Amino acid sequence: MKYPKLREIKGALISLFTKPYTSKFPFAPHTPYPAFRGKPYYDNEKCMGCTACVNVCPTGALSFKDISVDGITKRILKISWDICIECGQCELNCPTIEGIKLSQEFDISTTEKRKDLHQTIEKEMVLCEHCEKPVAAKDHILWTIKKLGPLYPPNTTLVAFCQQLLSIKTTIKTSKEGFVRQERFRVLCPNCRRKIIFTS
Ligand code: SF4
Ligand code: SF4
Repeated sequence: MKYPKLREIKGALISLFTKPYTSKFPFAPHTPYPAFRGKPYYDNEKCMGCTACVNVCPTGALSFKDISVDGITKRILKISWDICIECGQCELNCPTIEGIKLSQEFDISTTEKRKDLHQTIEKEMVLCEHCEKPVAAKDHILWTIKKLGPLYPPNTTLVAFCQQLLSIKTTIKTSKEGFVRQERFRVLCPNCRRKIIFTS
């Protein structure tokens, strides 16, 4: 017969007089450790709609689509909590640092349908003045201008965007058939800017 080692007897005696290591969840609320990674949430104010988080999400729990309703184009960003593995890559790679944050929530048990386990936020989009396709979210352009500070003017799209904000009217001719040179001084998507530089 093998006798228990002293180490095991010591462990048993200690556990007799200390609190259990496990919590009583689900019978009592569980408080996770501060570094615990739980459900992520977008912060509509601090997210600029750049989609960097969507690109790094390993499970496809983050997605976006650009939609036009009544002449306004919006970007809808979505978190699907049912396929999120709470790895934290989205939070780690967010340029604004606070656009998406993991919470301490770990319990996603629900009687709702799986597709209802999500959060969506909307961002207003800026459109290309030539092809009218989305260029970037308005907040993303504003963030870039702020980040570049006095270095932003060499970017013509950023300058043209600031003119729009200040309601400065320009008399630049446009042509649906092709590009005219003056259109370089408009808000353009990368595709149109490339074409205009090589063809006009
Ligand atoms: S700002 Fe952050 S949270 Fe918002 S889309 Fe970009 S990476 Fe994602
Ligand atoms: S925590 Fe990981 S899996 Fe969940 S949304 Fe962020 S990047 Fe995707």
